[in-house]
Amino acid sequence: MADQFADKGGRIVVQNLIETIRENKAYLSEVDGAIGDGDHGINMAKGFTLTGERLTDQMGCSESLKTLGRTLVMEIGGAMGPLYGTFFKALAGACSDKEQIDAQVFGQMLEAGYAAVVELGQARVGDKTLVDTLHPALAEYKKALGDGAGFKDALQRMVQAAQQGKESTRDLAAKLGRSSRLGERSRGVLDAGAASCYLILKSMADTISGLL
Ligand code: ADP
Ligand code: MG
Repeated sequence: MADQFADKGGRIVVQNLIETIRENKAYLSEVDGAIGDGDHGINMAKGFTLTGERLTDQMGCSESLKTLGRTLVMEIGGAMGPLYGTFFKALAGACSDKEQIDAQVFGQMLEAGYAAVVELGQARVGDKTLVDTLHPALAEYKKALGDGAGFKDALQRMVQAAQQGKESTRDLAAKLGRSSRLGERSRGVLDAGAASCYLILKSMADTISGLL
């Protein structure tokens, strides 16, 4: 078992992300409908589908992620276009000069994505946003590497932490974004971005594990 994958063969990471988001379009809008405006799945599916039309055979992992990021930033509105667009552009930037992507490089990608999202959106853990999924996922991934875990195990631990992070948003009151207007009434349901972030991390982890 290799502990890295070639950037060249990594377009599948983005192709599978597109599929995941399209499959979960209705679910994500339903989650957003509870305390937001119910467009999260629609926004996401639109951006990811457009990206699918723009991927070419020559693109590897980094170029595909860059295409996804650019498409979301430039063409998708709402909170998620800029936030996820910036996230994916940062992931792409952190592996743009790599022929092989190993556990360390993926850690740098996640770290860059997290930093970019926080810089743009200023969300902190507990605000009931996608950061409640992303932060613990990144922390656990880094911890796994520190423990000497292999790439696959670290990905698995990341997904577990992401799931717990997503679930943690149920008990939170929203402090940022549209649902913050509901204040205390936003408790009791998941945050849409936290739900999509979990799906994104899970899809990437599954695809990468298959490539190793
Ligand atoms: P909109 O809120 O404009 O309708 P979406 O429904 O596509 O946009 O996305 C909503 C999600 O965006 C929220 O569930 C939340 O997770 C995320 N979000 C909103 N504001 C921020 C922020 N400042 N930082 C991080 N995530 C945010
Ligand atoms: Mg919305």
